[in-house]
Parts: sequence; structure tokens; C-alpha cells
Amino acid sequence: MSQEKISKIAVFPGSFDPITIGHEAIIRRALPLFDKIIVAIGKNTVKKNLFALEDRMEWIKIALKEFEDKVEVAAFDGLTMNFCKERDAQFILRGLRTSVDFEFEYSISQINRQIGDIETIFLFTDPVYTPISSSIVRDIYLHGGDFSSLIPKGIKLIKNEE
Ligand code: ADP
Repeated sequence: MSQEKISKIAVFPGSFDPITIGHEAIIRRALPLFDKIIVAIGKNTVKKNLFALEDRMEWIKIALKEFEDKVEVAAFDGLTMNFCKERDAQFILRGLRTSVDFEFEYSISQINRQIGDIETIFLFTDPVYTPISSSIVRDIYLHGGDFSSLIPKGIKLIKNEE
């Protein structure tokens, strides 16, 4: 009997405005769980992003360069579950920091399973990354502080001047 191996593909959706060492740690920890991880920037959120889409994608690529055969960076419009279908991804990957993250993720993950047949896999953050968020990095950036220890090495943040 032939047993065709189905690749386990996960989409890690977010704004990544910009990628932080918290995001990077989640991706690194998830690598052994999946054959491929697509880090996907959702384009049509109501949020106004500080950094340009192309820059945000480039910074993710720089951070995960050593895993370029397993980690792809993409952008998408519309529902995450539709993007997962387009890319044959069976899983959504999300990181959890606090109960606030949990409350937000809970119903979305149930809907993605009920109507999209997509399982969401949650990884609790390592405690050292609990206080780190893109919004904190943006705040420090905008007020001239030193955020360098909060973002992956080799990345130089430049604001979108459009
Ligand atoms: P979103 O706008 O969808 O929350 P983000 O780019 O802020 O997008 O985050 C993408 C994912 O990364 C989310 O699952 C979020 O909970 C997770 N995440 C963000 N910061 C951290 C962190 N410091 N530790 C673990 N997970 C995190």
C-alpha cells in the first residue's frame, strides 16, 4: 500500500510591523513541527502600518535566512483561511503571550476550524519575550530610543515615508 507523505504546511500570519525577536523565537521553535512555514503578512487590515510591506518582508527574510529552504515569506489579501487553502496549508501558527492574546485568538481559531477546517497551533512564548511586541518597538523607534535588542540581528529599520 502506498502511503503518500503529505507535507505539513503552516501559515504564520501577522503584521510584523516590524518582526521582533519574539516572532523569530516562535518561528524557530515551530520549525521541527512543520515541513514548511509561510510567514504571511496580511495586507488588508484596518491597522495603519509604520513600515513598508516590502521592508517588513525583507526583514523577515534576513532574520530567517539560515532556514530559507523551509521558511517562505509572503503577503496576502483577505481571509487567512483562504490564503491557507490557496497554499495547501493545514495549519495556522500563532504565538501566545498573555491572557489578552488568548482571548483574542480563542474564537478566531474556532471559526477557522469550523468553517475553514484549519487547525491553529499555539506556542506559548518563552517568558523572556512576553513583554516584546511590534508596537513597543515602534514606540521606542519613534521616540529615538534603543530598540536594537528587541529585533533580529542584521536588520536596520527605516520608516515608510509615503
Ligand atoms: P497581529 O497583528 O496578527 O497580532 P503580529 O505581527 O503582532 O500580528 O503578531 C503575529 C503573531 O506573533 C501573533 O500570533 C502574536 O501573538 C505573535 N507574537 C507577537 N509577539 C510575540 C512575542 N513576543 N512572543 C510570542 N509571540 C508573539
